[in-house]
Amino acid sequence: MTTRIKLLPDHISNQIAAGEVIQRPSSVVKELLENSVDANSKNIQLIIKDGGKTLIQVIDDGSGINRDDLSLAFQRHATSKIRRTDDLYNLKTKGFRGEALASIAAISNIEIHTRAFKDEVSQFTKMEGGQVTEQKFSTQPKGTSISIKNLFYNVPARRNFLRSDTVEFRHIVDEFNRISLAHPEINFLFYNNGNELFDLSVNKSKKRICSVFGSKWENQLIPITETTTLVKIEGFIVKPEFSKKTRGHQFFFVNNRFIKSPFLHHAVCSAFDGLLRTGYNPGYFLYFTVDPKSIDINIHPTKTEIKFEEDQSIYSILRAAVKHSLGIFQVIPALDFDKDKSFDIPYSFNQKKPTFPTIEVDSNFNPFTNTSIFTKKQKDQSWKDIPSNVKLDYNLKNNYNSYGSEELFDVTQNNRVFQLFSKYIVCPLKTSMIIIDQCRAHQRVLYERFLSSMTSKKSVTQKLLYPLEIKLNTEQKNVYSEIKDVIESLGFEIKQKKQSILLILSCPQYFPQSKIEELIDYILSSDYKKITEDYFSQADKIAKLLSKQLSIKKGKYLESEELQSLLDDFFGCKETRISPFNKPIFINLEKSELDQKLN
Ligand code: ADP
Ligand code: MG
Repeated sequence: MTTRIKLLPDHISNQIAAGEVIQRPSSVVKELLENSVDANSKNIQLIIKDGGKTLIQVIDDGSGINRDDLSLAFQRHATSKIRRTDDLYNLKTKGFRGEALASIAAISNIEIHTRAFKDEVSQFTKMEGGQVTEQKFSTQPKGTSISIKNLFYNVPARRNFLRSDTVEFRHIVDEFNRISLAHPEINFLFYNNGNELFDLSVNKSKKRICSVFGSKWENQLIPITETTTLVKIEGFIVKPEFSKKTRGHQFFFVNNRFIKSPFLHHAVCSAFDGLLRTGYNPGYFLYFTVDPKSIDINIHPTKTEIKFEEDQSIYSILRAAVKHSLGIFQVIPALDFDKDKSFDIPYSFNQKKPTFPTIEVDSNFNPFTNTSIFTKKQKDQSWKDIPSNVKLDYNLKNNYNSYGSEELFDVTQNNRVFQLFSKYIVCPLKTSMIIIDQCRAHQRVLYERFLSSMTSKKSVTQKLLYPLEIKLNTEQKNVYSEIKDVIESLGFEIKQKKQSILLILSCPQYFPQSKIEELIDYILSSDYKKITEDYFSQADKIAKLLSKQLSIKKGKYLESEELQSLLDDFFGCKETRISPFNKPIFINLEKSELDQKLN
């Protein structure tokens, strides 16, 4: 009896397999660009004709393929990227399945020139439907140039299924964007039907985003940085007011691989809750760095879905990080730190020479005269306009924003801020009076400033005249290696000498130089680890600790410019209600309450 079950010939099984990986021209673009990235190329060119149906060519200056490996490269399950099962769970390359070239070859005509670094000449191979038709030496530079012609020429059903050139081209642009955004460290050129579409030179990720989508994006992005032991999240979210109805600006990259994740998308959406108009979508460019061992990429042939070992935690960290950045940046007036001059202005308290408190009795002082400091600084004070109907359950600044058009605080009233018991600042408003705790208000100012520096990574630094040397003990060395990045993002430039010595070269501009040693010592001290309070992240923890250490304490007499400066800074804060340590910062005493009490 003859058997009815037969092994499929290679060319058919390859065509079937190709269906999984290669759905349309953009899938070829993705696979070829990924191969060029994996080959450590510095320059990658993509050339497309007719939506990729006629030609897809990728030229790179990467490692090239060894002469002996070339024929293997086109065999299914042939890869140079993994060797054993373990490697599957520790992937550092985009490819690993060894089936892209075999799949593409099965359904197209291919021409490839490739030259490995050690080879004198390049190799040329021509294939039709997976069969080699020509092989010779050629004289191409180092790297690889691969051309895919007549995609699906031998699978008519597939070819007919393709959409118009314009639609296929759009898919290709999407793939190109995903890879070029994931790799701002590579130069990319993209030609479509002979016209240059993109010329992206190596840049920071924000600049790459702007080169891809347009320079107006420069002002539309809010930075995010979060470092935890589980994941590092960096990147940008689009300010809510620039969100779009389309979903074209949602990018997650995990270890520089673009991925789709409805789960993480949900985390971002929930952080944006209440900030977007209905029908609008949040925009984001979020780069996750995780231990490759903590993810599984091999759950889908196109490798665009991955599984996180600790997905719930990543969800919460992401949600909190987005909320945090939205919180910090949403109401601070200048969102782009490149342009925010206020951050260049050193905080007056830290620049001042200490003055000894003196008691001066102003015999002419009359709290009811009209000489308040409000009038002096009218022009650049935003907080003078705080309406009198401030409610304690909202933060002041928000009220200020949302009540903008209502009757504002009248500066011609008899208002004069003054310090009470060297501890409180009293601000009379039109129909109420707020009493602010000076220490907590200053903690708030410093906390937001530190966090902003760390999030935007644009802190203003001052060079020290002489590098400051700090010796570390073993405990401190450990803590330092853990939080080095966070400390640097504050604006410190630090060199580590022989592991146990830190050379401080620069510090944040608003940082009192005389306190550097004490503060670094404090941050790195063993207490740091012992603090068990539930801090949101290392950055959060350091911002809180420093704000506590550097804040004006109760009992400190403040001169009127100091009061004014503190209030200006304080009312510019995102959150004015509670201190970084969750204590109320001020109380609001309504005139009506006084009237009632004195009735
Ligand atoms: P994978 O990327 O999963 O390993 P592919 O079929 O995409 O599988 O490629 C097969 C092999 O060919 C790769 O493992 C790599 O060694 C080699 N290769 C493919 N493209 C390039 C390239 N542009 N530069 C250098 N080597 C390449
Ligand atoms: Mg590959």
